[in-house]
Amino acid sequence: MMLGSAAVASPWVLNSAVTAAAESTADSKPAFKIIAERCINCVACVVFCPQKAIRYSGDQAYRIDPDKCVRCGTCKPYCNHHAIVDPSQPEPEVKLHALKTLDCDVCVVGGGPGTVAAVRAAQAGKKVIIVEKGPELGGCAFYAMGLFTRGSKAHLATGARDNREEAVKEIVARTKGTIDPELIRKGVFTTGPFFDWLTEFKEAQGRFNFPFASGASSSGPMGGGMALEGPVGVIGSIAGQRVGSGWVVMTTLKAACKKLGVTVLTGTRATEIGTNSKGAVSYVMAEDAGGQVRVNCKACLLSTGAFQSSMEMIREYAPLFGDMRIGHNAHGLPENTGDGMALARKAGALIDRDAARFDCLGQIPSPMSAFLDAHCKSDEMKISLQGKRFANESGMISEAVIQSLPQGVTYSISDQTLWDARNKAELERDKGKIDPYVFTAEMMDELDDLLQAPDQPLMRADTLEDLANQMGFADPRIFVATVKRYNQFCENGEDKDFSKPSDHLHAIKTPPFYAVRNMVHPHGGSCGVAINAKMEVKAAKGGVVPGLYGSGDVVTPTLGTRINILHDLTWALTGAYMASDSILEHLKTKA
Ligand SMILES: Cc1cc2nc3c(=O)[nH]c(=O)nc-3n(C[C@H](O)[C@H](O)[C@H](O)COP(=O)(O)OP(=O)(O)OC[C@H]3O[C@@H](n4cnc5c(N)ncnc54)[C@H](O)[C@@H]3O)c2cc1C
Ligand code: SF4
Ligand code: SF4
Repeated sequence: MMLGSAAVASPWVLNSAVTAAAESTADSKPAFKIIAERCINCVACVVFCPQKAIRYSGDQAYRIDPDKCVRCGTCKPYCNHHAIVDPSQPEPEVKLHALKTLDCDVCVVGGGPGTVAAVRAAQAGKKVIIVEKGPELGGCAFYAMGLFTRGSKAHLATGARDNREEAVKEIVARTKGTIDPELIRKGVFTTGPFFDWLTEFKEAQGRFNFPFASGASSSGPMGGGMALEGPVGVIGSIAGQRVGSGWVVMTTLKAACKKLGVTVLTGTRATEIGTNSKGAVSYVMAEDAGGQVRVNCKACLLSTGAFQSSMEMIREYAPLFGDMRIGHNAHGLPENTGDGMALARKAGALIDRDAARFDCLGQIPSPMSAFLDAHCKSDEMKISLQGKRFANESGMISEAVIQSLPQGVTYSISDQTLWDARNKAELERDKGKIDPYVFTAEMMDELDDLLQAPDQPLMRADTLEDLANQMGFADPRIFVATVKRYNQFCENGEDKDFSKPSDHLHAIKTPPFYAVRNMVHPHGGSCGVAINAKMEVKAAKGGVVPGLYGSGDVVTPTLGTRINILHDLTWALTGAYMASDSILEHLKTKA
C-alpha cells in the first residue's frame, strides 16, 4: 500500500520474504520480482521488457510473470524506485553503525529538484551533502513532463516573443496580492537563466524542443514556453505520455553531482533540522538503515515535497479527501509524506496552515493503466458508489464534485459494443508508431490478468445485476434503474439529468457489461512552509530562520489561492536555483 504515515523508518532495506518467495524460471533460476510497495506504476519497465513479461496485476502494482521472464535484467536500471529485484542476488547487508557525523557547507534535504541547489553550490566550490529518503535522486520530478521556460536562449531562439513582463502582471493580478510580487517577478525571470544553466550540461543538450513556443496557452502565461523532451527519451512519465523533461533534468543533475563530488546519502531520512543558540541552522539529523547520521552545515535547503502519500496529513489538512481512496500511481512517491512541515516547524519556521493543501488531478483507474484509461472516457456512463450518475461524463469533473463522492470512488460503465469500438479506435490511433508504449494488441491480453487479479479495478458480467454485485452494491436495483434511465436518454438523444451531449450518449445494452473502478488521482500540493522572495524560510516569531531555505512543494508560493506562480516542476527547479543564489550570498557572511 502506497499511502503511509510520516513515520517511514529504515527505507529501502530489502525484505527477506522476497528471496524466500522467489518464483522460478524454467531453468530454475528465480525470475526477477517487483516489490509491490515500492512500485509507483511509472510503467518504464513495462515499456522496456523485451519479453512483455511485466503486467499490471490489479493489486496496486505491476508484476513480473515468472514464466516469461528470462532474467535479462533490462528492466532493472529503468526503475528509479528500486522496485525490481533479482532474488538470486543476496540482499545488501545492513551494517549497524554508531552516530555518523559529517560536515559540509550546504545540506540539501530532499534530492528531487532541490538537487539544482546542490549542484550550483558544488560548482561554487562548496562542500555539499544531499540527504535523500528514497533509493535514488529524482523525486517526483523524475516522472514529470512539462517544464516551462520563458526568456531562455533556447526558447528565444525559436523566435518566440518574450512575454515575461506580461506574465508577471497577469500572475500578480490573478493572485490578488496574496503572493509577494517580488517573488513572482523573480520566479518568472529566473526560469530562463535556470534553463540556460541546465543546458550547459552535455547531458541536457539537444534534449528539449518547444512545440508550443509562441504565445501563452491555456495553461497560463508561461505555457507557451513549454520545453518538452525531444524524441530521444521515452521513460520518465506516466502511462501513455512519452515526453519526460523531468527525467532529462534529473539524470543531468545526477551526473553533475557525481562529477562535482556532491555527497549523496540515499535511503536516509532527515528527522530534524537543528539550530544553534542564535537560532541559525547548524545541523541536520537523519537516519539510514544502519543508524543515526548528523550532518553539520552552514545552510540547509528544505525540498522534501508535499504530503500526497500521508493519509494522516490528508485527513488533517485536506479533510474532504480524508476518507477517500487515493489512487496508487507515480503522482506521489511513498516518500511524499510531508516530513518537511514537521522539520521546518521544529526549526522555528512559520507554517501557513491555510496554504497546506492536497492537489487532486481528477479521477483515474488506479493504478494507472493506459488500457483501463481508454475505457474511462466520455462515452462511458459514470456512477458513484451509490449506483447513480453524478455528472455530465463528457465534461471536466470538478474537485468539488469529487469531494462529494463517497470514498471518491466511481465506476465507468460500458457494454461490449462500446468496449470493442474503444479498443479498435485505440489500436487504429497508434498503428505504425515506433513508440514502445502504445495501446497494442498485446496490451489487450491484460484483460485476462486483470479479471483474475486481487482487488481488481475491472469487472465484467453478463447481466447488469451481476455487475452490480461485483461492484459491491447492496441493492443492485438502484444501479439497474440508473442504466435503464440512461439508456432512455441515449435513445431519445437527450440527457435530462446532466445534459451530456448526445454524441457522447451510448446505451449500455449489449452484454457482457464492463465496469472500471476509478479513484482520486493525487498530484501534489503544499506543506505551507512560508518563504520570502529570497527563498528564506520565515520564522514563526518574525524574521527568518537564518540559514534555512525552502523550495518546491514544501513551501507555499500559492498562499492558499491554488494559483501557482509557475507550474509545479518549473517552480521547484527554478525555486531551488533562486535559493542557491541566496545560499551562496549567505555563505559569504560565514566565510
Ligand atoms: C508523475 C508526475 C508527473 C508530474 N508532471 C508534472 C508536469 O508535467 N509539470 C509540472 O509542472 N509538474 C509535474 N509534476 C509535479 C512535479 O514533479 C513536482 O511538483 C515537483 O517535483 C516537486 O518538487 P519537490 O522538490 O517539491 O518535491 P519532490 O520532487 O517530491 O522531491 C522531494 C524529495 O524529497 C525526498 N524526501 C521527502 N522527505 C524526506 C526526508 N524526510 N528526508 C530526506 N528526503 C526526503 C523525497 O524522497 C523526494 O526525493 C508531476 C509529478 C509527478 C509525480
Ligand atoms: S516503479 Fe515503474 S519501473 Fe519500477 S517496477 Fe514499478 S512500474 Fe516498473
Ligand atoms: S529481467 Fe528481462 S525478461 Fe525479466 S522482467 Fe526484466 S526485462 Fe523482462
